[in-house]
Amino acid sequence: MKVPPTLSVVLGNLLKKPATNPFPEKEPVPVPEGFRGKLIYHVDKCVGCRLCVTVCPAGVFEYIPEIRKVTLWLGRCVFCKQCVDVCPVNALEMSDEFLLATYDKYDDSLRWLKNDEIEKMIEEKKKTQKKPAQK
Ligand code: SF4
Ligand code: SF4
Repeated sequence: MKVPPTLSVVLGNLLKKPATNPFPEKEPVPVPEGFRGKLIYHVDKCVGCRLCVTVCPAGVFEYIPEIRKVTLWLGRCVFCKQCVDVCPVNALEMSDEFLLATYDKYDDSLRWLKNDEIEKMIEEKKKTQKKPAQK
């Protein structure tokens, strides 16, 4: 009986180690330089210019006028990095993090400035505005 030519290849591959990284069994391989992972928002640096809102093609940013900051819905991000490039104060940065799988793209883990943080910041701003001016 003639052995199919592919059989030796199949049998050979059964004995070889996997060609790919066996993640998540093992640690993931390091990402290359310039990798565009989960976006980081440095809230304190943000000056509320709204350039990121204008440039983002995916509707990730929502401006919050009361505190002149933005909230980010990262589940929509397409990792184009345009917001990072346009931000005048480096308040946005791409990280190495790529483990972003979730059942809900509006999950809190994919959000910068969550609702409770926004409410707290608004309250704090109101308090400081109420304080009488010092002579
Ligand atoms: S990387 Fe692109 S898609 Fe993601 S938030 Fe920035 S501008 Fe929007
Ligand atoms: S571009 Fe930068 S400074 Fe301007 S609103 Fe966006 S994050 Fe803030």
